[in-house]
Amino acid sequence: MKVYYEFGLCGAYIDLDGHYGNSIDNSRDFVPEIDKAISPICGNINIMVSHQAYIEELKANLEILRKEIIEDRVHYVVFCHGADSHEWDELASQVSTEEWVECSRLVYTFILDLQKETNKQIPLILSLFGGYRRDDYNSVLSLHATDLVTCLNILCGSKINYTTEVTPRIISCEQKL
Ligand SMILES: [Zn+2]
Repeated sequence: MKVYYEFGLCGAYIDLDGHYGNSIDNSRDFVPEIDKAISPICGNINIMVSHQAYIEELKANLEILRKEIIEDRVHYVVFCHGADSHEWDELASQVSTEEWVECSRLVYTFILDLQKETNKQIPLILSLFGGYRRDDYNSVLSLHATDLVTCLNILCGSKINYTTEVTPRIISCEQKL
């Protein structure tokens, strides 16, 4: 809201966290101008399906967002790539490691292509979202590190070689009960 009030800019959230992005929807009752600050067309992209359908829905949403950016109705993008959409996370079970990384590639390539097409910088904010692996915190960190490396390699011209390491989840007897 502060960005809208101070600069008159409208944003879009690509929320690939496992939780539904209700902080935007829950604000509607007390923030009447929220649709001016966050695009009502594609400002809160949340995906509820799994695996290949998840990738396809992301692509479809990015196409809608592309039009909104080109026609200057959306001025910046916030990417929230929660690791809790990963299939071995305690919370959700939406995408495999390869699919999760593919989503990062799709978003950063989307921004890169749009920058070339519009010949201007698209402000992109990365927001660190969830990831819940009490059995192996390093799996969560490795997914987030992969996301950042993918961003640097695609958008900043880096050539960082990083291997994602996510281990299958060990379910304790307590959790099974
Ligand atoms: Zn979450």
